[in-house]
Amino acid sequence: MENIDNYEVQFVGYMPDEFKQGILYVSMRGKIVIHLCACGCGEKVVTPISPDDWKLTFDGETISLYPSIGNWDFSCRSHYWIRNNQVVIARSYDYGQEKPSKRKKKSKKKKFFRLWKK
Ligand SMILES: [Zn+2]
Repeated sequence: MENIDNYEVQFVGYMPDEFKQGILYVSMRGKIVIHLCACGCGEKVVTPISPDDWKLTFDGETISLYPSIGNWDFSCRSHYWIRNNQVVIARSYDYGQEKPSKRKKKSKKKKFFRLWKK
């Protein structure tokens, strides 16, 4: 397992069958970003881009995603931000920034919220 601290952006029309570590696959058409977990576990992280999900910022060179990526469903349970292609490991207090509109995933997240708080 190798940690990723820096992603490379690849704009795609449709998602490929295979994903490589360290690449952010961005599909504007599909309004979705897919990358493999930054901890190196190889899990596929799917972030839909919509007003209720993630927001994508593209500055012409790099991508930022908001809010943070919380991989509660994976055994690694990694939690990080992607800012200007860089992986920024999130700390527990970052949870406070989560938007209330993310209700639908709330039940699962609540459980881990407690775990992270301690
Ligand atoms: Zn992971």
